[in-house]
Amino acid sequence: MRPAPFRYVRARSAIEAAQMLGHNPGARILSGGQTLIPELTRRAVTSPLIVDLKTARGMDTAHWEDAALTIGALCTLSTLEAVVAQRPHARYLQSALAMTASPAIRHRATVGGTVALASSTSELLIALLVGTTSCETVDADGKIRTRDLNEFFTTRNVGDAEVITAVRHTPPDGVAALDEYARQSNVPADVVVGVVSGFETDILYTVVGIRGRLPTHASHHPGDPYGPRHVASAWSHDAIAERLITRLAHAGRH
Ligand SMILES: Cc1cc2nc3c(=O)[nH]c(=O)nc-3n(C[C@H](O)[C@H](O)[C@H](O)COP(=O)(O)OP(=O)(O)OC[C@H]3O[C@@H](n4cnc5c(N)ncnc54)[C@H](O)[C@@H]3O)c2cc1C
Repeated sequence: MRPAPFRYVRARSAIEAAQMLGHNPGARILSGGQTLIPELTRRAVTSPLIVDLKTARGMDTAHWEDAALTIGALCTLSTLEAVVAQRPHARYLQSALAMTASPAIRHRATVGGTVALASSTSELLIALLVGTTSCETVDADGKIRTRDLNEFFTTRNVGDAEVITAVRHTPPDGVAALDEYARQSNVPADVVVGVVSGFETDILYTVVGIRGRLPTHASHHPGDPYGPRHVASAWSHDAIAERLITRLAHAGRH
C-alpha cells in the first residue's frame, strides 16, 4: 500500500520549525532539498509533515569575524564557497566545496542539511573537522545547544525536535592539517586517516582508511589524472593514498 502523502508547512523561524517537529512525530526539515526531495520521491523516506526551513530568515549567510567563520544553516554550499575564497588560509574549505557534488547541487544544498546528514564521505564535514568546529541547534523550547561537530559526525545525535541553526569554524594554525586531525580521538576508526590541505597547490587531499595508521599501500592507476574531482568520487582510491604518502615523506612525517 502506498504511504499517505505528507503535509507541507513553511516555518518563519528555526524555533517555529523545531516546535512543528515536536508536535508532529516523524516530521522532517526541508532545507536545500537535494537529498530529501529525491528520498521522498523514491519513497525511501516517509514523513507526515515536511517543514520548509528556507522561509526562515537570517540563516542564509556566512561571515568571518577575525579568524572565525560563522555559517548560517541555510547558507548554500556555493555561497559558502564565495565567502571562504576571501581567506587564503581557508583554501582547504574552498577545495572541499569545489569537490562536492555539482555546481547546480551546491547552488541549493545547504550547510545545515549537510551537517544533518552527517555523512562520513562529506568533503565539507571532513574539511570542517580540520580545525575547531561547533554546531548550534535550537529545540522546541527555544533552548540553544552548541556541540562539537565530532558529536554529529560520530553519534548523529541531533534530537528529533532539534533544528541546526549555525556552524562555527576556526581554521587550524599551520600548513599541515594532518597532525591537527590525528589528535582528534573520536573520529570513527574506519573513516579518515588524514587530510592534507595543499596551500600551495590549492587542493585538498583526503584518505579513507584506518585512523592512526598511515596508508602503507598504494598503486598506480594508469591514466589516472589524480585530479580533485576524481578524488570526490573515489574516496578510498589508492592514488590518493600515494599522494598523501609522498607529501608526508616530503614533510618528514613518514
Ligand atoms: C546527486 C548528488 C550528489 C551529491 N554529492 C555530494 C558530494 O559529493 N559530497 C557531499 O558532501 N554531499 C553530496 N551531496 C549531498 C548534498 O551536497 C547536500 O549535503 C545534501 O543534499 C543535504 O543538503 P540539503 O540542504 O539539500 O538538505 P535537505 O535535502 O533539505 O535535507 C537533508 C536531511 O537533513 C535534514 N535537515 C536539513 N536541514 C536541517 C536543519 N537545519 N536541521 C536539522 N535537520 C536538517 C532533513 O530533514 C533531511 O533529513 C550530493 C547530493 C546529490 C543529490
